[in-house]
Amino acid sequence: MCGHAQADLIADRDDIRAEVEALWEFHESRLKPRTPPERLLDRVAFSQHPPIAVVRCRECGLVYRNPVERSHELTEIYARTTPPADVLRSLHDTQLPAVRSQARELRRVLGRGGSGLEVGSYVGAFLAAARDEGLQVEGLDINAEINAFTRTLGFHVHDGTLSAFDDARRFDTVSIWNTFDQLADPRAAVVRAAALLTDGGVLALRVPNGEFYARARRLLSHPVAPVRHAARAVLALNNLLTFPYRAGFGVSSLSRLLRDAGLEIAHVRGDVLVPTGDEWTRPWARREERVVKRLLRVLAASPRSAPWIEVYARRA
Ligand SMILES: [Zn+2]
Repeated sequence: MCGHAQADLIADRDDIRAEVEALWEFHESRLKPRTPPERLLDRVAFSQHPPIAVVRCRECGLVYRNPVERSHELTEIYARTTPPADVLRSLHDTQLPAVRSQARELRRVLGRGGSGLEVGSYVGAFLAAARDEGLQVEGLDINAEINAFTRTLGFHVHDGTLSAFDDARRFDTVSIWNTFDQLADPRAAVVRAAALLTDGGVLALRVPNGEFYARARRLLSHPVAPVRHAARAVLALNNLLTFPYRAGFGVSSLSRLLRDAGLEIAHVRGDVLVPTGDEWTRPWARREERVVKRLLRVLAASPRSAPWIEVYARRA
């Protein structure tokens, strides 16, 4: 995945099975009875199934699943998962407040309004936030049914993948907020994204922090129960438990990747996952999530201690 040969085991098959059980246990007590199954999507049931094992590269620190699944399986899994329109609308509304900071940051790093392409535009929350910041961003997503929903919100959305995206235009911004961790070849994606940028254009990526996962998951077997529970909550509320990703970049592995593609890092920001609680979450659990994420936000001021990382890089 990163081109380096040596890697250490982070979690084996039994560890991952234990994480799957911990995740169900965690959400079972926090969700109201009779929660519709589709509301479990992106919370306990991810479009990506749990890995067989997770390893960490000795040279760049990249955390990735090994063995690596074939890419067409993932595309099929994602493309056939379409929740009903009311759920998509609710996801759009839930995600919108949180992605506003990403749109503001992108606008700030670019230094002006401009055009953009978002890879993995999903339900269009970022497209809406970007428009409010003076950025005209088009979407690109492989799920045609979700794209049909996003177009009903008034956005220009292309069906397909970044590697197959055939457009002679150049964009002032390219952002990959939701799907970078699911791509079969992140290196090729960064090169392709850089080629779509105007000179001085900005690429923005958001990734789960693999280094954070590797460190925090060790606390799942800590002898002190409250430490174990805190680690479980932090990982579960940031969608890191069971590692439903192909790869988890850290600051160092991501910096290498971007530099190799001729991009200059302008800004790195640590972050936490958008709120996952909704009307099916018990009120105490929603309060708990707010408290946990407020604390994590303080720690996330240092990107290395953040469950999620955003990187903004400029094409030289
Ligand atoms: Zn590596």
